[in-house]
Amino acid sequence: MWNTRIEAALLEQKAKDRYRRRPVCQTANASYKMQVEGKSYLNFSSNDYLGLAHHPLMIEAASRGAKEYGVGSGGSPHVTGYSDPLVRLEERLASWLGYDAAIVYPSGFTANQAAIKLLIEKGDVMIADRLSHASLLEAAMFSPGRLYRFKHNDPLSLESYLEKEVKSNVIPSATPSAMPPDGNLHENAGKLVITEGIFSMDGDSAPLPEIARITQKYGATLMVDDAHGVGFWGSEGRGTCDHYGIKPDILVVTFGKAFGCSGAALLLSKTFAEYFVQFSRPLIYSTAIPPMQAETLLTAIDLIASQEGDERRMRLAANIRYFRESIAHNIGDKIGLLDSISPIQPLIIGEDAAALAVSAQLKDAGIWVSAIRPPTVPPHTARLRVTITADHDEAMIDQFIARLAAVSGEQ
Ligand SMILES: *Cc1c(COP(=O)(O)O)cnc(C)c1O
Repeated sequence: MWNTRIEAALLEQKAKDRYRRRPVCQTANASYKMQVEGKSYLNFSSNDYLGLAHHPLMIEAASRGAKEYGVGSGGSPHVTGYSDPLVRLEERLASWLGYDAAIVYPSGFTANQAAIKLLIEKGDVMIADRLSHASLLEAAMFSPGRLYRFKHNDPLSLESYLEKEVKSNVIPSATPSAMPPDGNLHENAGKLVITEGIFSMDGDSAPLPEIARITQKYGATLMVDDAHGVGFWGSEGRGTCDHYGIKPDILVVTFGKAFGCSGAALLLSKTFAEYFVQFSRPLIYSTAIPPMQAETLLTAIDLIASQEGDERRMRLAANIRYFRESIAHNIGDKIGLLDSISPIQPLIIGEDAAALAVSAQLKDAGIWVSAIRPPTVPPHTARLRVTITADHDEAMIDQFIARLAAVSGEQ
């Protein structure tokens, strides 16, 4: 039974040019170069935007942490896994980002699932940007609440859903015995607005001041996943919310991108944090991150918030500018470069097969840039998800764009 179903799914995946592979990346990868099957590439697909994954101070922190604490935490934070470096990491994150508390999870995927899973009960609603990350939308779909997806970066669309919710609440309070169809009174319904700081597949930033204003107007709660903004934007790299001067109720930061490591944290009020410590099952029933990882992440924050961090952000911004100008100059509108200020610079190709073909031709020429296909992005918007890092230089960008110009000329 399973075999038949699986074979059909795999065949369909192949027929649609959506078959996924996991390339084996070999030694000495860095944010700007990589080796796959013995061949070297310029890397234009890394999320290690500041080039911290190979930073000597990060490696030193990891080794120091391993020597002092071993390589594993030994248990859930509620048993034996809440190590001294992990406590310091949570305190540092909270004070750096201006929250009462931070709670660290093993990954951003888990942190997002944990937040939605714990907060959303039957009768609650979630209103999420429709391009939100899979970890957010999947948790929302599996939760007992109702999910609306507002138009991407469109505050008016968000407001129309909130308005509808508020109107539907008026009826039960006018006639107290009336129950909405799902059997719950809506009066105390939680309303959770979900968006990202910088969108992972488009690289654009959310209009957070407008979204925050509307969220507040309707008494809703705002959750912002800033996986791609923190480290890159804002003062000391505090991220998109800092850049726009807003403070969401729940801020998600992840450590697999600009932090050059892995893990994630929820930034919360004291009350929310207490609730999570008591009831968040992905926290309670999962092994805490190793102390050596917490040590490494403390060093990542030191670097991000330092003058060196500013210098890396400046190099990154200069590279992004150079990339965009060179594309405009050498390729023009033959390939659709999305309007993005971030390290994520997507080139829209359209059909899946065409995107794969361009990516394969670039690979032949020693340039690694992944084709991103549906369902990760909407149909007919398959793209090259180019990422720029602080470690690229103009010569590398020139080489990439020269090849891309040649390839797109042949298309
Ligand atoms: C990468 C990413 C995540 C997942 O974080 P991991 O730590 O890699 O699990 C969540 N949200 C967004 C927007 C992301 O880009």
